[in-house]
Amino acid sequence: MEEKKFDVIIIGGGPAGLSAGINCNSRNKKAAIFENGQLCEKIRKAPHVNNLIGFPMVTGKELSDRLINHAREANLTFVSQTINKIHPGGDTFYIQAGQEFYETKAVIITSGVAVKTDLKGELDFIGKGVSYCATCDGSFYKGKKVAVVSDYEKGEEEAKFLSEIASEVCYIPLYSNVGDLPDRIKVIKDKPQEIIGTGKVEKLILKENDIEVDGIFLERRSIPLVQLIEGLENDGRHIKIDCDMATNIPGVFAAGDCTGEPYQLPKAIGQGATAALSAAQWMDNQNKN
Ligand SMILES: Cc1cc2nc3c(=O)[nH]c(=O)nc-3n(C[C@H](O)[C@H](O)[C@H](O)COP(=O)(O)OP(=O)(O)OC[C@H]3O[C@@H](n4cnc5c(N)ncnc54)[C@H](O)[C@@H]3O)c2cc1C
Repeated sequence: MEEKKFDVIIIGGGPAGLSAGINCNSRNKKAAIFENGQLCEKIRKAPHVNNLIGFPMVTGKELSDRLINHAREANLTFVSQTINKIHPGGDTFYIQAGQEFYETKAVIITSGVAVKTDLKGELDFIGKGVSYCATCDGSFYKGKKVAVVSDYEKGEEEAKFLSEIASEVCYIPLYSNVGDLPDRIKVIKDKPQEIIGTGKVEKLILKENDIEVDGIFLERRSIPLVQLIEGLENDGRHIKIDCDMATNIPGVFAAGDCTGEPYQLPKAIGQGATAALSAAQWMDNQNKN
């Protein structure tokens, strides 16, 4: 049976997340890394990396392979899912990934640079017609009309799933090479500009056209921080942390690009390690009390 309870859940499998993972393991904490794309996908794209001491002019590919192999040797659980929401609940966090829930004592967010929200109105309509998870919220749109705006192929699965519930699904891919979709899904190649409505989503304004919709599903690799966990202090794209990588929410830590510039690998690795040690320390203190 799939393991659902951990000491630490790490959101993101980039250098910061893997570094946090191996350091949790060193401190004997049972950790899981959730990654919704490929592990270390970003740094893999670097032709060469020349600022990681000890690895002069290493290629991004070699470096990411080394980081992944090292992490795989540790006693870590890897889960290929997007984390949609962190629900604090006393001394346990309930972590939602689609329809699945996982439990953990501490959370380390290493989700990389959050996408700049460029869709006007998006944040105003979260919970009022804007959703980031079809599996979580799809049932609210039974017999209604929805749009799926997707940065990448995963949105195709979400659109197919929604087309079994909603009366009409418009799919707006923001990438090329869209796969085969059933005829019941209307593919619209256009650029979203704004979400409007009175109290709830009513219309998606596109560059060429407008469509009337009851709900809009946004499929992105990184979801807005305000959606991930309520009350997390941030300055828009970055999570506020102290020098122990602790956020304003006890038990929640953050590391890497998601905490701000410089967006650099050595910083991500160092912060990931610090976050893991701080999380372990925090848990040990909780157990003493
Ligand atoms: C082409 C290129 C070249 C670069 N060259 C250099 C260089 O030479 N030197 C250097 O120092 N830096 C370089 N960088 C920057 C470096 O790659 C980043 O600073 C580093 O990857 C940050 O690591 P991170 O773990 O914080 O975030 P990321 O590597 O961005 O990893 C975050 C991961 O979290 C996942 N994720 C996000 N949200 C969720 C969620 N809700 N659920 C599950 N998973 C989620 C994302 O899919 C992503 O894989 C380069 C970057 C690029 C793109």
